[in-house]
Amino acid sequence: MNALVRRSVARTGIPCLWRGKCFSSGNEPKESNRVTPMQRHLMYKIKSTGPITVAEYMKEVLTNPVKGYYVHHDMLGEKGDFITSPELSQIFGELIGIWFVSEWMTSGKNTAFQLVELGPGRGTLMGDILRVFSQLGSVLKNCDFSIHLVEVSQKLSEIQALTLTEEKVPLETDAESLVYMKAATKSGIPISWYRDLKDVPKGYSFYLAHEFFDVLPVHKFQKTAKGWREVFVDIDPQVPDKLRFVLAPGATPAEAFIQHDEKRDHVEVCPEAGVIIQELSQRIALNGGAALIVDYGHDGTKTDTFRGFCGHQLHDVLIAPGTADLTADVDFSFLRRMAQGKVASLGPVQQRTFLKNMGIDVRLKVLLDKVDDPSVKQQLLQGYDMLMNPQKMGERFNFFALLPHQRLHGGSQERNACQSKTPASSVPGFDELVWQ
Ligand code: SAH
Repeated sequence: MNALVRRSVARTGIPCLWRGKCFSSGNEPKESNRVTPMQRHLMYKIKSTGPITVAEYMKEVLTNPVKGYYVHHDMLGEKGDFITSPELSQIFGELIGIWFVSEWMTSGKNTAFQLVELGPGRGTLMGDILRVFSQLGSVLKNCDFSIHLVEVSQKLSEIQALTLTEEKVPLETDAESLVYMKAATKSGIPISWYRDLKDVPKGYSFYLAHEFFDVLPVHKFQKTAKGWREVFVDIDPQVPDKLRFVLAPGATPAEAFIQHDEKRDHVEVCPEAGVIIQELSQRIALNGGAALIVDYGHDGTKTDTFRGFCGHQLHDVLIAPGTADLTADVDFSFLRRMAQGKVASLGPVQQRTFLKNMGIDVRLKVLLDKVDDPSVKQQLLQGYDMLMNPQKMGERFNFFALLPHQRLHGGSQERNACQSKTPASSVPGFDELVWQ
């Protein structure tokens, strides 16, 4: 097969459900009521210290170091619980790779830079980006760049290493080291793995987070006659081994994240997303670079979006915890607020707009012209349809960027203390890509 077309495109069939599609409907299929080890752990916790917040529930279920869903599981792809854009089409990662190269060129072509990905899944997206970087070898020649992956999952980090280096990579033996795995790609680009963004060296960097923010724990609040009350998870006193939602009797600390003029009667807030955006903003303001955040979400308008997925089906979030993915829509208005004017934010723009502006149609045509195998052509077309169709991922997923103020307004911070939807200088994806 042509080197332009990655091997995994030749898979058979594309599953039809992705996490961004549905909301918790209350009509989810009935799952077995077996008590999982995670549920036993949570019930023990609740019995000892009382009901837990939805955020604590989500964090335990997804990333508990011993039993967490993400920690020992490969949940991505046809045989897993959900599918993501880079797993569907190589073009997705290639266009993101071009976006980073374009931003790197516009911001002065520093010869040394870091590429940092949060929640890299199977490493597929980074692999597609690196293929673009190697094809643009003449542009990036003499560059000294390194890859930094922030990943909590032992299982997925092993898969990432295999995808990117084609080898098994051992864990670092020094327990004190912030880097828990180290390797290099076949062409010699160094890769380091971390558990936390804070551990990634500071410096001129490009950051990427695709379907990462939606797995961060959310607190849920309900408006009541007595004011905002947080939703907690408790054991149902009527039914043994069943979890249920309850409302806190009084105010709780996370209420501080709700806007004073909030009009909705149910909100989800994600303090961890705020911490990460503040860290990214500070780093970009100090050292330059950019962040690209891609996820399903809304601009501060949606209410109850917390939901579960198992085997490409919606799954009741309180049943068999640890066996299903838990997720909530990203509130981009909150991310924008958390940037606190330290950097400029762009978007969210819909995935289909961003990819169109980045030239997805031209790229598809180039690939279709290069392949002869009708099944590969079919895969490319199906992948394009999944990414772009407004009924599929085209309008549910959004692109959001953080950029230094001077990138948009030549150094004038005051002009763009908050969000800029129409920047003075154009940014590819958010505007049509213009090659210089
Ligand atoms: N970006 C990938 C995978 C998305 S799934 C893709 O689009 O295919 C979410 C990813 O985030 C997984 O790799 C998961 O292990 C990782 N993850 C979840 N919580 C995390 C956390 N708190 N810190 C770092 N990584 C996390």
